[in-house]
Amino acid sequence: MTTVTRFAPSPTGKLHVGNVRTALHNWLLAKKTGGRFLLRIDDTDAERSREDYVEAIRADLAWLGLTYDGEERQSLRTDRYEREFQRLVEQGRIYRAYETAQELDLKRKILLGRGLPPIYDRAALKLTEADHEAKTAAGEKPHWRFLLNHDQPITWEDGIRGPQNFDPRQMSDPVIRRADGSWLYMLPSAIDDIAMGITDVLRGEDHVSNTATQIQMFTALGATPPRFAHEALLTGSEGKLSKRLGALGMADFREQGIEPEAIIALLARLGTSDPVDATLDAAALAETFDLSRFGRAPARFDEADLHRVNAQIVHRLPYGRVAHLLPEGMGERAWDAIRPNLAHIDEARDWWQVITGPIAAPAFDDETRAFLTQAAEIAAGLDWSADPWRALTGALKESTGRKGKMLFLPLRQALTGHDHGPEMAALLPLIAQGEAVRRLAS
Ligand code: GLU
Repeated sequence: MTTVTRFAPSPTGKLHVGNVRTALHNWLLAKKTGGRFLLRIDDTDAERSREDYVEAIRADLAWLGLTYDGEERQSLRTDRYEREFQRLVEQGRIYRAYETAQELDLKRKILLGRGLPPIYDRAALKLTEADHEAKTAAGEKPHWRFLLNHDQPITWEDGIRGPQNFDPRQMSDPVIRRADGSWLYMLPSAIDDIAMGITDVLRGEDHVSNTATQIQMFTALGATPPRFAHEALLTGSEGKLSKRLGALGMADFREQGIEPEAIIALLARLGTSDPVDATLDAAALAETFDLSRFGRAPARFDEADLHRVNAQIVHRLPYGRVAHLLPEGMGERAWDAIRPNLAHIDEARDWWQVITGPIAAPAFDDETRAFLTQAAEIAAGLDWSADPWRALTGALKESTGRKGKMLFLPLRQALTGHDHGPEMAALLPLIAQGEAVRRLAS
């Protein structure tokens, strides 16, 4: 059976690293076995869902390269929910209840006060048809609960957490539909997972207890539940995901010069103790993706790690991938020469400036000045197409006896205006010969 996974965001905000990690892991899980990855927009909450968020989600996934093999939208599928809902009502698996939020809260407090778990007491199940009629006549509208089967223990083998056991007697019958007819996420999600042929549901561990009730929904709907796996939540470097990190979207990372490949490489391993593989090849990440490598401890997301991985990625990006982002005129040789020195692609601009000039060199003492004058004379006579750095330093070493830093540093400073930077052997041929001679002579 082909693996079919889905990413099911609610379009009530922009994606943050935690959501993106879930999307990526579902993508990797599907790609690993040549399966399918689907996007499902969970927009049953009409009030909080926004079209610009839907578009932002699509744009973020595209930017990250997380292509999907199909898209569904819950708001377009309500006919189906209605049908399945009626079926479950007829089977007695869904019932009407009328308690207000305050009444439920009071019930919970009483139970907790007695040291009992705050489980819904199913009072509404005892209402007779006459009671319902009376409530309707009084203008009360019911909301709807799913009736858990107390005689059917809930178990599953979680792909990350291992064997899971839940006693339905210890759980409240979940509310699945509000009095205004709108849907809560649980039942539509199970209906969709069945219709979309989802084989694996991989999501955050905040959904574990939802899974327990949803497993009974799958069964009530006549389907075999998919495999489930729940990932430990993401935390920031100092505990839980900070407000700031939670609010950072992909556009913010893009603005900081973070490349999508860096986000993919880091998040692919976040939650395992495996080293990050700063590869550009997402298919290779999929091949080695393995749920059993994920632990139950919260996964720490550290922005400093992201910047480190980003630099490694930038060092590997081929010219074709970055050409449109580089300054006018900057070619492949220049990119290859300077990319090992970049943390972000836009720094290429600074080194291109160093190559094309003008640059600001430091003031040198007389002795160094004399050395550089000699260097200028030698440089003027070199064949610039044949490793001029080697030829220049070789000749200067011979004639001045200088070596090491004494030899290289003044040359680098005069030629680039910097103490550090790309390999001079790669950089020098990119600086025009006349320009190099001028920099050494001035
Ligand atoms: N829309 C739900 C959420 O964002 C989906 C959870 C799920 O993957 O089933 O939490």
